Amino acid sequence: MTALLLGALGLTLSLVVPGALAAARWPDRAPAAAVVLWQSITLAGILCALGVVLAAPQELVHELGSGKPVGVAALIAALGVAALIIIRLLVSLAGVTYRSRTRRARHRMLVDLLDDAERHGELPAEVPPGLRVLDGPLPFAYCLPGRNPRVVVSGGALRILDSSQVAAVIAHEQAHLRHRHDLVMESFTAFYRAVPRPLRSRAPLDAVHLLVEMVADDAARRRCGAEPLRTALAVLGDAVSPDAPAEARGDAEQERRRRTARLAGPDGRSLAWSALSVTLAVSLLVLPTVIIVVPWLGRALMAWPF
Ligand SMILES: [Zn+2]
Repeated sequence: MTALLLGALGLTLSLVVPGALAAARWPDRAPAAAVVLWQSITLAGILCALGVVLAAPQELVHELGSGKPVGVAALIAALGVAALIIIRLLVSLAGVTYRSRTRRARHRMLVDLLDDAERHGELPAEVPPGLRVLDGPLPFAYCLPGRNPRVVVSGGALRILDSSQVAAVIAHEQAHLRHRHDLVMESFTAFYRAVPRPLRSRAPLDAVHLLVEMVADDAARRRCGAEPLRTALAVLGDAVSPDAPAEARGDAEQERRRRTARLAGPDGRSLAWSALSVTLAVSLLVLPTVIIVVPWLGRALMAWPF
């Protein structure tokens, strides 16, 4: 029964919930808390998969009334599969992290070489230390996270944005760096790549990408006001770093429309939605553990052939 319950919960969390949550609009009012909820959904899904793998053989052996050798073999097989799931996740995370770090280091070196900041008088008075300007007609801005972060703005962007808009764009990118949104996106990308094709969904990746953009928008809005950021957003091209993993780039045009619309209204962030979102996130991890896993663990420890 435990395996069935955990299996049903795991499938719901990986196939039904992501689509529904991605389509909902209330996370726009509590983007940071909604990211926590997505993390909790993902983690709970992983725990359900591990729970099924560990509980199913024990329950089957118990049901069939098989002897001790079968029980031991089933336990070893279950532990082996659970270890494989964990190793697959860790290898995926290591791969994504390693590739991002390498690409970023190379990219950082290039922007440092090509930096043209001193020629640009349009920069705000307080230029952050990691700011780099790349000359060229295309208007864009992005950040390179890491221990020596950079904010990159193009000469094209500086030509069409006024100083308050440039400051808002820089504040947005600095918020990404400060909150380490790169780590958030990397963990979701790693999970996406580790999940077998029929079970995986792009919804968490796209939704979390949009949510971290909203978190950065809110930080920039608090520092520079909504209007400069909204105008800058309408003018700038795809502001996703070219170093972001390919999967981590959602529908740029749609994302921009939603962010611009959000900035047009009053600050709609809601403490109530944040609290609800975090409560849901915590419940999702705690309730199945207390209701399903702990009683099973008690029974399993009594029944296993140790
Ligand atoms: Zn951004």
